[in-house]
Amino acid sequence: MTISRADCAALDADDPLKGLRDEFTLPEGTIYLVGNSLGAPPKRASAALLRTVEQEWGGRLVGAWNADGWFDLPTSTGDRIAPLIGAGPDQVVVGDTTSIGIVKAVSAAFGLRPGRRVVVSDLENFPTDRYMVQGLTEALGGYEIRDVRGADGLDEALAPGDVACVLLSEVDYRTGDRHDTAEVTARVQAAGALMIWDLCHSAGAYQVDMSPADFAVGCTYKYLNGGPGAPAFVYVHPRHQAEARHLLTGWHGHAAPFAFEPGYRPAEGVRRFAVSTPHVLSFAALNASLDIWERVDMAQVRAKSVALTSLFIDLVEELCEPYGLTLVTSRDPERRGSQVSFTHPDGYPVMRALIDRGVHGDFRAPDVLRFGFAPLYLRHVDVHDAAVTLAEVLGKELWRDERYRRRLAVT
Ligand SMILES: *Cc1c(COP(=O)(O)O)cnc(C)c1O
Repeated sequence: MTISRADCAALDADDPLKGLRDEFTLPEGTIYLVGNSLGAPPKRASAALLRTVEQEWGGRLVGAWNADGWFDLPTSTGDRIAPLIGAGPDQVVVGDTTSIGIVKAVSAAFGLRPGRRVVVSDLENFPTDRYMVQGLTEALGGYEIRDVRGADGLDEALAPGDVACVLLSEVDYRTGDRHDTAEVTARVQAAGALMIWDLCHSAGAYQVDMSPADFAVGCTYKYLNGGPGAPAFVYVHPRHQAEARHLLTGWHGHAAPFAFEPGYRPAEGVRRFAVSTPHVLSFAALNASLDIWERVDMAQVRAKSVALTSLFIDLVEELCEPYGLTLVTSRDPERRGSQVSFTHPDGYPVMRALIDRGVHGDFRAPDVLRFGFAPLYLRHVDVHDAAVTLAEVLGKELWRDERYRRRLAVT
């Protein structure tokens, strides 16, 4: 093999991020390549949850809304996420889910572009991004969805001059390919439309730069390790904050939530993108994870991500080349996130057999094997061992076992 396990161990010894692995709980014998779906738990999350339950909730009861800053969690947590996505203070609000954030961002964009009645949506996008736009446009009436595939067809879609906004994911959830956000944003804005980025597969994978974008949404339970069901974020560029209005006019986005007025008035700034009572326990786990992110150099995160994904591609192609795998992620590190995907005609049983041997990736219909590389807790030796195990599963056809064919509810 061109790269030996010992070589990988040497790279790990030199890794400036190596100390961070110890911040996370990872089961013994598991190589976890699904941090792009649900990040591993930071050890400090348990203590944070216990403190929130026992000291804040248990100690101060309803008074904790003031005393422990619960009411301000959407904006205080937003300010901690902002640096990771190239945003500033008072530009990010946290709460709800990414699906809900899409309704907020797209409905706000419609309001900012009166007279334009088209939203451009990517056929390859994560389905909920499309479903939410479909539901929103049907409910509003008079709006049209124009489909593109990735950024292909974008210029044609923008040409008629009737597009209010474009919604794309920075990193494709299936292939792991990454858009040039600055270039695409500039093209969309030059056509008079607003650019909304979904950062679900980019936030925490590398330094994101949303400073030119109009809106962005994203979840915190993938690379950001905020925990299952952790709240999502919405970014609103300062140039839109005074005017942007969205559809979900809940009391936590009201100018004076505790005046209990009969009518809605939007809060100043990004706070108006909050909707309702924050999920305080989920925020506790997320903020524990952000304590770690605060100490991380994103240039080191990106360098390690590129090293791990490149290593995996090289090893798999060297060890597994004859076994029916096709790389669907870009070979150019600039054009990919922190994920590598291969297709295989029997992808589902292959992934099940791999998981049975301790290597956890996941499967996305119809035939994609996904491997996410979270740079905070993965090592080069993990990448090595994962590739060797995959070669064994394919070489010995271990996936042909009948029990790997039955589909589980969550793949
Ligand atoms: C993970 C993901 C979501 C998840 O949406 P939820 O509302 O949190 O269920 C949405 N969009 C994309 C692109 C994703 O990758």
